[in-house]
Amino acid sequence: CGIVGYIGPKEAVSVLVDGLEKLEYRGYDSAGVAIPGEENLEILKKVGKLAVLKDQLNGEEHCANVGIGHTRWATHGRPSDTNAHPHTDCTGQFAVVHNGIIENYLSLREWLESEGHVFRSQTDTEVLPHLIEHFYNGDLLEAVLVSVSKLVGSYAMAVVSSKEPDKLVAVRQDSPLVVGLGEGEYFLASDIPALLKHTRFTYILNDGEVAVLEKGGVKVMDLDRKEIRKSIFEVKWAA
Ligand code: GLU
Repeated sequence: CGIVGYIGPKEAVSVLVDGLEKLEYRGYDSAGVAIPGEENLEILKKVGKLAVLKDQLNGEEHCANVGIGHTRWATHGRPSDTNAHPHTDCTGQFAVVHNGIIENYLSLREWLESEGHVFRSQTDTEVLPHLIEHFYNGDLLEAVLVSVSKLVGSYAMAVVSSKEPDKLVAVRQDSPLVVGLGEGEYFLASDIPALLKHTRFTYILNDGEVAVLEKGGVKVMDLDRKEIRKSIFEVKWAA
């Protein structure tokens, strides 16, 4: 299971798939990516090996410079195309990749369904995009922070939205997540090997930290939006 994210000048899909390959050692049963499309998000996800996803991506043109990707190790819901990440809300405007387990997902799902949300998958993860859509009021970071305050469990997650397509929001609690700092390009990954082709400079996120990645830079905050001055960790070992 692994998470990757990219924002910068390059074509995002190939950077994401390449990063996911570096995380293959963690094990997975399905894989997927989300990028902002013309209007809504474009989601491509497939059960099986990354090669299956790559086959589907081959021959398609993707020009997005922002996106998130995932390799899944199923905990809730069998391995399938539908249960693969990224997951989206009903409007298709918010996509989430997640590692970990949302322990209170059943009660959140019941509540969201009573509010009119329609679920497609059997995963615990799918509550996340629905929550974010529910709380979105013109500020993606705020919607993520309010959503996270409702969660019990472990998570590393990354969020992309067609509402704010030049941004990634990521947050972690009891699941690993690192930020890669390139020149005018920024990365998210579950582990450092996924970054090393691009940069050796990283922020290691701690529990309760949220990162906002934009073309101009990365901000790390606590869950009250108080900015945290992270020290840069330089990876010295050979790739
Ligand atoms: N609990 C989530 C699922 O089953 C995430 C699994 C993972 O960490 O890959 O979809």
